[in-house]
Amino acid sequence: MAAAGKTKSKSKFDLKYELQQYFGFDSFKGEQEKIINSILSGTDTFVIMPTGGGKSLCYQLPALLSEGVAIVVSPLIALMKNQVDLIRGYSSKDNIAHFLNSTLSKAQQKKVKSDLTEGKTKMLYVAPETLTKTENIAFFADLNISFIAVDEAHCISEWGHDFRPEYRKLRDMINEINPELPIIALTATATPKVQDDIVKNLNLQNPDVYVDSFNRPNLYYEIVPKGSKEQTLKHIVKFINSMKGKSGIIYTLNRKTTEELASTLMANGISAVAYHAGLEGPLRAQRQDQFLMEKVDVIVATIAFGMGIDKPDVRFVMHYNVPKSLENYYQETGRAGRDGMEGKCLLYYSYKDVQKLEHLMRDKPLSEREMGAQLISETLAYVESGVCRRKLLLHYFGEDYKGGNCQNCDNCLNPKEKLEVKDSVKITLDAINELDERFGIEYVVNIILGKTNPQIQTFRHDKLKSFGAGLIMEMDTNFWESLIRQMILEGMIRKDIEEYGLLKITDKGHKFHKKPYSIQVILNHKYEDAVGDDDEVSSGSGTPATTDPQLFEMLKDLRKQIAKEKNLPPFVIFLENSLEDMATNYPTTLEELEKIQGVSKGKTIRYGRKFVELISKYVDENDIVKPDDFIMKSVVNKSGMKVYIIQNIDKKIPLETIARNKSLTMPELLVEMETIVASGTRLNLDYCLEQELDEDEQEDIFDYFRSSHDDNMEDAFEEFKDRDVSIEHLKMMRIKFMSEYAN
Ligand SMILES: [Zn+2]
Repeated sequence: MAAAGKTKSKSKFDLKYELQQYFGFDSFKGEQEKIINSILSGTDTFVIMPTGGGKSLCYQLPALLSEGVAIVVSPLIALMKNQVDLIRGYSSKDNIAHFLNSTLSKAQQKKVKSDLTEGKTKMLYVAPETLTKTENIAFFADLNISFIAVDEAHCISEWGHDFRPEYRKLRDMINEINPELPIIALTATATPKVQDDIVKNLNLQNPDVYVDSFNRPNLYYEIVPKGSKEQTLKHIVKFINSMKGKSGIIYTLNRKTTEELASTLMANGISAVAYHAGLEGPLRAQRQDQFLMEKVDVIVATIAFGMGIDKPDVRFVMHYNVPKSLENYYQETGRAGRDGMEGKCLLYYSYKDVQKLEHLMRDKPLSEREMGAQLISETLAYVESGVCRRKLLLHYFGEDYKGGNCQNCDNCLNPKEKLEVKDSVKITLDAINELDERFGIEYVVNIILGKTNPQIQTFRHDKLKSFGAGLIMEMDTNFWESLIRQMILEGMIRKDIEEYGLLKITDKGHKFHKKPYSIQVILNHKYEDAVGDDDEVSSGSGTPATTDPQLFEMLKDLRKQIAKEKNLPPFVIFLENSLEDMATNYPTTLEELEKIQGVSKGKTIRYGRKFVELISKYVDENDIVKPDDFIMKSVVNKSGMKVYIIQNIDKKIPLETIARNKSLTMPELLVEMETIVASGTRLNLDYCLEQELDEDEQEDIFDYFRSSHDDNMEDAFEEFKDRDVSIEHLKMMRIKFMSEYAN
């Protein structure tokens, strides 16, 4: 490709003056002026400029200055109107810019066309589909056209992150209109391979190429290993809470996850909405607006969101799933910190997500699969590497970062030590060799670690010399898997493309095998916790924290004391399992207390202060490290259960049926109901109780509760056992009692 900055005959315009006249700016950014001169001189021009660099101005100003109309090809119909409105905003005449697409009525199209014929319009935005219509081509061929601008030109390449097949037809269309027209192609991101594709496909003639640096020094990059779903959600909520009131985008792989994640965030007091292609158009537009107008802080989106989103102050971009390619990742993280200020980019990584991506491609044609597999393996290499993220990313775009420690990525802030892996590499190559290069990573690792399974037994591979050869290194599965992936990166082995996933030894690998040499790798943040699976239903509360027995007793004493003062039974103040939860999670503020199970806002206000004070004092005196800064309110499963129980009791459905439908035992259902009532929702159980206990019995039980000083149900049972009252009856009565007195 031609180098940039060829000497150009100076254009007849005073560009700075025109810039000031049309756009009100005093000076050009970066290479804008050179680019504009290039297109004004009729040279094909190729501009690679990261978002925020002032890309559009590169064709807008020459369009305004040139004779005739410039045709701007843009991939998204939804954004054309915005772009046209922006230009009209700079001008006094509406017909200076138009768009032509299927959203216009016949009458509107006619008006656009007459403005074009009369030469009133300087810029016409079209979708590639518009250009392919025969009638339009004939019409354009008769127009006086200044040049063609192809925006988001990476859409041309299957290697890009946003391939549009229609883009590939552009050159043919342009040839039909007028093969002599100069072309300016622009993109915000392109690897050398994509760049090459663009030049070839548009058949650019000796183009002037302008490549701006892709470095975004203000962006911070970090990889976070995914643990259990609950742990990951906690990490996300905690992070967002540390960015209070700031705008952020979370990208996920599928629609279901966007909805789930958005509701979890909302349940934890973060204003968030989901955004995906499955939503109705108006709702999608509404949510996008809410985000742009800062009515919500966080948008949880599939990749359908963001192209052309020009919000300068997005402060964080999270990837909840591994992105499909590094291009996607760069493009999506690029939406953070466009104003050059803070922009944090967190990617949550788990190998399960990678397998999901691989799985999604299984039914695709081979060529697409190969491509996809390569893109994923590049992403994986990035994720696992201990090298500066910035250096890796820029290298991917063909740029050499020479800045040393960037001080703004996880690897630079916490450098990892290097490990000598000569012997382990040798063991791995031996195993692959002995297996005749006919197996994938998992199988090879099983052999190295001497783990048998039916397949290994069938092939009698447990008799191989390599079987268990790696045990001597005392490293785990994860070490071997990441070592193998690094060996792929180093080019010692490769995953076979035809028989996807089978490990083959390359020439470099054979050379090493014959004559092993010292080799060091920065060992890959082992990420042994990164096993998270979004589909797995988390079993309760992540790590089982233990209840502090001493604090639990103290809380019970306090409850007793308050109950006495208020002349109420203790369980009306707080349930015993709420106290247990407090003695586990140590809430030290009222806000935290509210997140304890069975604790409503009303109860927090009424009784909370003394409890929080006691816990704070206890935490200070005993140097307690709290299990987490906050307690996560998990909504997804629990709230559904709660709503179900409330609705069905309203409908007077027998408790046995409710329990059965939710796979609960009766005691479990009773605990759920207690928690519901303790949190401030009344449940009317009269329809069940009437059949079981007569009025006198109910009255006596109430009296007993009124005078009781603890919530020991065994004592209550002793008291009433002669009268044929079961423990379940008593518990139901206690729920009725709490419904009437507690809230
Ligand atoms: Zn770095």
